[in-house]
Amino acid sequence: MPKNADLHCHSIVSDGLLAPAVLVERARTNGVDLLALTDHDEIGGLDEARAAAAAVGLGFINGVEISVSWGDDQTVHIVGLNFDHHHADLVTGLARVRSGRDARAGLMAEELAKAGIDGAYAGALKYVGNPALISRSHFARYIVERGFAPDVKTVFDHWLAKGKPGYVSHAWADLQDAVNWIRDAGGIAVIAHPGRYRLTSAERRALYAAFKDCGGQGIEVVSGSSNETEIREFAGIAREFGFLASRASDFHGPGESYIDLGRMVQLPADLKPVWEAWN
Ligand code: AMP
Ligand code: MN
Ligand code: MN
Ligand code: MN
Repeated sequence: MPKNADLHCHSIVSDGLLAPAVLVERARTNGVDLLALTDHDEIGGLDEARAAAAAVGLGFINGVEISVSWGDDQTVHIVGLNFDHHHADLVTGLARVRSGRDARAGLMAEELAKAGIDGAYAGALKYVGNPALISRSHFARYIVERGFAPDVKTVFDHWLAKGKPGYVSHAWADLQDAVNWIRDAGGIAVIAHPGRYRLTSAERRALYAAFKDCGGQGIEVVSGSSNETEIREFAGIAREFGFLASRASDFHGPGESYIDLGRMVQLPADLKPVWEAWN
């Protein structure tokens, strides 16, 4: 039986709905045998998740999903896997990335107020589990609560996606810095959900090349939101660029995700899975 690895998910330490230990229990129930918790810009949930995983005999590796600004005001997400979570550069780098979020949230609330949605900063905060990690997802939950939209996805389409009234552009980490933090801490850097970026195919290839030049080694060939065509495309990219392949649900919580923990299709058999790189 191929491994049921799920190397990308979120807890309440960022914008997920479940506590790290609850997430681990759900992974075990779903038959996952290797899990990485990858909260946005934050590693504060790893100790709880690791202890919970050890208690039930589930394989666990450290993870993080770093927000990166790249090119012409594009945001891309870089997942770090299997690093030392005490490494000083990683710890201080992530703290710096997180530190911009609160001011950004204030600006988002101002923009949303102009668009007719008042009280969004305080409203979003009610959904935040970690004060350093206020995100668009928390705003989306508040906007659903107010009845402006039936679900989080619709909120993004109308208010929070790039180009919409509540979107505020933001300077995240530099691509090279993010890869360095991960690698210097002994980990492997992986391009998260490559199908989710609104890039032309030329920009997409430029991203893969830049990432490889920076020392990036992996790509999520199978991600919760990817369809068969995308999986074929990203498998081709893994072969062409020599990337390790990752398998990732990007689970955020029941009712808010494309797919549940561990329920993704398997990686194409000829690719080298990222977890074999550290065996
Ligand atoms: P932030 O880091 O604050 O920009 O928030 C990014 C998060 O918003 C992502 O990690 C997703 O969880 C969520 N998100 C982004 N786009 C969408 C979308 N179209 N539908 C649902 N959630 C989204
Ligand atoms: Mn998220
Ligand atoms: Mn992401
Ligand atoms: Mn994610």
